[in-house]
Amino acid sequence: MKSAIVTRFAPSPTGYLHLGHAYAAIFAETQARLAGGLFILRIEDIDVSRCKAEFEEAIYEDLRWLGLNWESPVRRQSAHLSDYGSALERLKKLSLIYPCFCTRGEIKAEIERAGGAPHGPEGPIYPGTCKHLPNDERDNRINNGISYALRLDLAKATEITGDLSWQDQTLGNQKTKLHEFGDIVLARKDIATSYHLSVTVDDALQGVTLVTRGEDLADATGIHRLLQSLLEYDVPQYMHHKILTNDDGKRFAKRDQSVTLRSLRAAGKTPTDIRAMIGLSS
Ligand code: GLU
Repeated sequence: MKSAIVTRFAPSPTGYLHLGHAYAAIFAETQARLAGGLFILRIEDIDVSRCKAEFEEAIYEDLRWLGLNWESPVRRQSAHLSDYGSALERLKKLSLIYPCFCTRGEIKAEIERAGGAPHGPEGPIYPGTCKHLPNDERDNRINNGISYALRLDLAKATEITGDLSWQDQTLGNQKTKLHEFGDIVLARKDIATSYHLSVTVDDALQGVTLVTRGEDLADATGIHRLLQSLLEYDVPQYMHHKILTNDDGKRFAKRDQSVTLRSLRAAGKTPTDIRAMIGLSS
């Protein structure tokens, strides 16, 4: 796929789309259209226990109703697990991945024992309990069927990449703040990848040149930037946009049925009304 600009909208089919999604989708489509580029839709369905076919169908229907068109075929992440596996293998070869056997409860207890842990955008930073386990102990636990996640050794990774930055068309030049994340999980036993890994791999494989998404994910871009560098991917531009909120200043939630596109449509709203409601009429 070669074009000046490729943008994407990447919803998870875990509920019906609401006004916040309409904003993100129309924002991405507009950036592509104004630049004569391509707009792609990606279904982020790696967490199969939470995703439903019914919600995926509703995504296509609601976006078509809004008047959006996207490139074919739609990439569904659940059909591409081997791509994420290959990326993990590359990171393993660089000795940047280690198995972590801690349960959530054990991590909490360890943090309490240590008198607390710094908090990052994704909660308390992992205290590194499994980081220095000897290899034979790791093998023993794995052979005994103890379940584990795979974590990225952040210190080693940043030794390879050095300081990194990324260009955001809204926020300007940004430096990664990776210490705020710690050794993030890149894959789990039940889900063989993670949001951070799959989104980085997909944006690269799909040739996305401009990632547009809510500003709540701006810090996470540092992780993606690090993975791009380790995996030798091209670096897209970014544009983090505001998060739409309701009259009480709270962001829309999938559980709030009153702002889903289908309930608004059932109440007689038109796509033009929706664009006016979210302030993206052009
Ligand atoms: N699937 C993510 C979401 O629904 C999209 C994240 C992204 O655009 O990188 O929030």
